[in-house]
Amino acid sequence: MTEPECLFCKIVAGDVPSTPVYENGTVYAFRDINPQARVHVLVVSRQHYEDAGALAGDDPALLADLVLAGVEVARQEGIERSGYRMVFNTGEDAGRTVFHAHLHVLGGEGLGLFGRVG
Ligand code: AMP
Ligand code: ZN
Repeated sequence: MTEPECLFCKIVAGDVPSTPVYENGTVYAFRDINPQARVHVLVVSRQHYEDAGALAGDDPALLADLVLAGVEVARQEGIERSGYRMVFNTGEDAGRTVFHAHLHVLGGEGLGLFGRVG
């Protein structure tokens, strides 16, 4: 299923440009347009799900595909040994802006602690 107004569905379809990093039959990974670390890649399911919980509930294997693709991205980017962070944001307090489930893969330099603002 795709959502016509969804930015990441449009990116998966190629209707909005992106910089590809990795893809397979179920997922697509591309560079974040506003990187928060030297490496910042988003991994999305080709199929539209609102968030990671909805995806996991409906298709747990697809959630595993996202995580395994994140590991592959880290390997390709040469950060699997130096370390990296995988993040799913959900809801307003997490600063969520795009409502198509996506995994952030961040690394390539030391990352700050995360949690409360300030
Ligand atoms: P989130 O805040 O978890 O919803 O993350 C959404 C992410 O999508 C942010 O890190 C944005 O920088 C990123 N983003 C928004 N538009 C684009 C785009 N057209 N191409 C690549 N990344 C994007
Ligand atoms: Zn979508």
